Amino acid sequence: MADQELSIEIKDQAGKTSVGVVQVRVITDRQRWQRAWHSARVAYILAFATLFLPIIHFVVPPLAVIIGTILAIRRLGQAELLQGQGACPYCQKALTIEPQLPEWPVEILCPGCKRLMQASLEPGDLQKRRQNAELP
Ligand SMILES: [Zn+2]
Repeated sequence: MADQELSIEIKDQAGKTSVGVVQVRVITDRQRWQRAWHSARVAYILAFATLFLPIIHFVVPPLAVIIGTILAIRRLGQAELLQGQGACPYCQKALTIEPQLPEWPVEILCPGCKRLMQASLEPGDLQKRRQNAELP
């Protein structure tokens, strides 16, 4: 598992910018299966727990199994996660990018001024990222 650290540019709606960093983490197959199982487990437990309740057992168990399976499949497809930090270009308050799929631009809500920011990779790092994607 290799983390890749990249520079980002954080821009508010008025066009003010600041810089930050993100770490992109590649998730191994074993971790992907673990994450998938963790997200399905709660739904499967709920399905089993309601299996013996009259009337409810017609609705909740099938729904829980379907929803749990969908969540697990979605998690299984996540091969990378990113998280990061930076500063709000408007109020300078620290911004945290919670772990999520690396889809650019990333939207961040500033906890200080409640403005919506967009974080995007700097052109050099975007290039580096594309080159890495071509590697096995
Ligand atoms: Zn702010």
